[in-house]
Amino acid sequence: MKRDRGIGLGSSARPSGGPGAGRLLGTLVAALAAGLVGWVAWGGSGRPGAEVLQSAAIVGRATPLSLRIDAGRAGLRSVDVRLEGGGAAGTLLSREFPAEGPLGSGVRDECFDLVLDAGAAGVPEGEARIVVRASDWSALGRLRGPSEILSIPVTVDVAPPALTPVTVTSMGQRGGSAIVVYRVAPDAVRSGVEIGSRRFPGRTGAFADPALGVALFSLPWDAPTPIQPQVFAEDAAGNRARAAVALPVKERRFPEEKIEVTTTFMTVKIPELLERNGMKAPADPVEAYLAVNRDLRRRSEERLREIGRVSAPRFLFEGAFVQQPDTAVGSRFAERRHYSFGGKPIDEQTHLGTDLASVKLAPVVASARGRVLWAGDLGIYGNAVVLDHGLGLETLYAHLTDTAVAAGQVVEKGATLGRSGQTGLAGGDHLHYSTMIHGQHVDPVEWWDGKWFRDRIAPQLASAPAAPNLGDEPSDPDPAPAATSGGRSGCGRGTAPDGATAPAATGRAAR
Ligand SMILES: [Zn+2]
Repeated sequence: MKRDRGIGLGSSARPSGGPGAGRLLGTLVAALAAGLVGWVAWGGSGRPGAEVLQSAAIVGRATPLSLRIDAGRAGLRSVDVRLEGGGAAGTLLSREFPAEGPLGSGVRDECFDLVLDAGAAGVPEGEARIVVRASDWSALGRLRGPSEILSIPVTVDVAPPALTPVTVTSMGQRGGSAIVVYRVAPDAVRSGVEIGSRRFPGRTGAFADPALGVALFSLPWDAPTPIQPQVFAEDAAGNRARAAVALPVKERRFPEEKIEVTTTFMTVKIPELLERNGMKAPADPVEAYLAVNRDLRRRSEERLREIGRVSAPRFLFEGAFVQQPDTAVGSRFAERRHYSFGGKPIDEQTHLGTDLASVKLAPVVASARGRVLWAGDLGIYGNAVVLDHGLGLETLYAHLTDTAVAAGQVVEKGATLGRSGQTGLAGGDHLHYSTMIHGQHVDPVEWWDGKWFRDRIAPQLASAPAAPNLGDEPSDPDPAPAATSGGRSGCGRGTAPDGATAPAATGRAAR
């Protein structure tokens, strides 16, 4: 049964085979095998890697955890993070990465910023571990499925730090200032006062008794009614305690004022300010005005809050502040301004300081002893000086022609800081003066009143012996914002803390 090799080729009578077909099949198999090996090698090991960027030994109600998970070229397939302990387990994260094509998801690495809540996970207090399981789309990964790639031993603790208010300002008014002393457990890493979404960091260490904390705070001019301050304390695991403080707050109405913007101001001052602050000048004069009155104003306020993060751990002054000598009060604190141009309304803002008028180029003096936090250009405030008086209390001197001090310098009450002027968003020579608590404006008038200071602030500070040898070096009482704050995550997404601890207030004015 001999057949010509050439004839039967392709015939159904005979299975394919023979040396020619064999060679082809062999090549095919070899190619497939090489391809498989290549695919297996290309896709990765099937075990993604994990890197811990931020973790804590104690897991509570809001504990930050940041992880980076790396996979081979085929990409991540699934990531699962669980808290396991005390016979219970709860899922903290469960993510699937679908295949984008035949080769996998292509997600080579992914960073996760998690806020762990042991309470929600249902894991009881005591020993536990955070377990990370992951898989990738490589050939080996498809075969193997999710595997444990990381295990972190932790302790679960969901008890909030003990916290009790001790003494607080007896009464206050909207837009004014107040102070509270509270007792807080040593495991608290941050504490202070909260009013709605606003936070005023407090600090321990100012009193001889290390369990006592103190926070100066504002009764914000624009907070919803009623204003109800609460003290808060947070431990490293994010467990939070809160307690209301008994502080009656008198409501107030703030003045309204109409301002007609002049053509000269529109065509000379506004373009000059935009250029000075590196901003594009819109062709439309009203839009250009709004770029300054809204955008530059907001930027200036953010800058003020950033400058006001650091403060001395105690008051650097004694007694009341002084109003600038020989000045008349013009615009008052929290005056609502309605701007118009050519008779048409164009904007509304709130004036968050007090305007003090005197003669041109009048010497501007420190209203109390303090340390210079800022001396230089400050957006709508023009040439400005910011003094720190301790515990977050600051004063701002704006629109100066020139400054006579430098950052870091300690100045006595009455020391010359510079000369008045009209730099920044100012229509004429005057001093825009503001009092702030951690960069949030308060009514300056209270601080000029010796009786108010003796009755409402001094008794709380005198309620317990001060800490001996407490320096006056400025520091940030709230250096690490809570796990839930944006912008400072372990994954490093974003940079500037855009009002992480203080929400942007609405309308503000400097003129
Ligand atoms: Zn002003």
